[in-house]
Amino acid sequence: MSSSHNRKTLKTEKPILGTVVVVGSINIDQVVSVNRHPLPGETLIGNDLELLPGGKGANQAVAAASLGGKVALVGAVGDDSTATAAMAILIASGVDTVEVETVEGPTGLALITVCENGENTIVVVPGANAFVDKAFVHARQALVASACVVVLQGEIPRSGIMEAARLAQGRVLLNLAPVIKLDEATLHLADPLVVNEHEASLLLNLLKPGTDFPGADRKIAQELLDWGMKSVVLTRGAKGALCVDDSGTLDVAAPVVTARDTSGAGDAFVGALSLKLAAGQSLQDAVRYAVRVGAFAVQSRGTQPSYPRVGDLLPQSK
Ligand code: ADP
Repeated sequence: MSSSHNRKTLKTEKPILGTVVVVGSINIDQVVSVNRHPLPGETLIGNDLELLPGGKGANQAVAAASLGGKVALVGAVGDDSTATAAMAILIASGVDTVEVETVEGPTGLALITVCENGENTIVVVPGANAFVDKAFVHARQALVASACVVVLQGEIPRSGIMEAARLAQGRVLLNLAPVIKLDEATLHLADPLVVNEHEASLLLNLLKPGTDFPGADRKIAQELLDWGMKSVVLTRGAKGALCVDDSGTLDVAAPVVTARDTSGAGDAFVGALSLKLAAGQSLQDAVRYAVRVGAFAVQSRGTQPSYPRVGDLLPQSK
């Protein structure tokens, strides 16, 4: 493993208010639009190709930083030519990338085909993200421990996720996307666990095999809480989000908007949520804000380029 970035160790006694540390994936998204998806063995001509920065970790870091957050990202890119493009918006939005290491091999890649009817297929090649394991995260212990909110997702090795949750001294925001099997101790540290409706049912089935509540969002969220989660936030696309913790259940409707591209909406939501939690807001208030940020992001194309900046959100009507 080689590094082209300086290593800076931050010594802290306790988490620093307002700081977000995202430990997660960085990808380059190759997006091809097609009239229809190819059948197995078939070759089709695509309409156009876009190379866009992506990866859930990077997306969430950009979302939080664009809204004025003090955000650092722990992750890895490859020593290939796509690394620069993958990092471009991260750097432009002011994310601290000192702990993004350049490793041998390719940068993480998502091959995405977008069909005319809006249906996507996505193949993710982890590349450098596979390096973000227990040892990698442990080497950044001081930074992780300094965060007021540590943000994690399912696109890096599980050992890296578990180590980051273990080292966190602040709040752990676990966005279990995609759903992967983690140990109970890690899941119990999540506060909140953030999942979309589909991920919520998958997770519940992993934790309580045979349990099925199609469409019953409140019940799924409550079941996850009863299982032992500290708090659960369920994102529900155009319906907004549901937040469940000790203080009760809050259903936040999303503003009615014209959705042009919903990719990365969940990451915009998570980034915004982390920002407000790090600023000391209650989970319910942070969810109210994140729902508006998610709704903003679906109104234009792409993931990171669609995220709002400070001042872009209209004041909230009461
Ligand atoms: P994911 O992208 O992870 O599947 P969701 O689809 O649940 O997540 O979207 C996350 C958030 O983005 C929602 O909680 C909502 O705030 C916003 N959102 C998504 N789709 C729409 C939509 N069609 N209209 C308004 N807001 C939306």
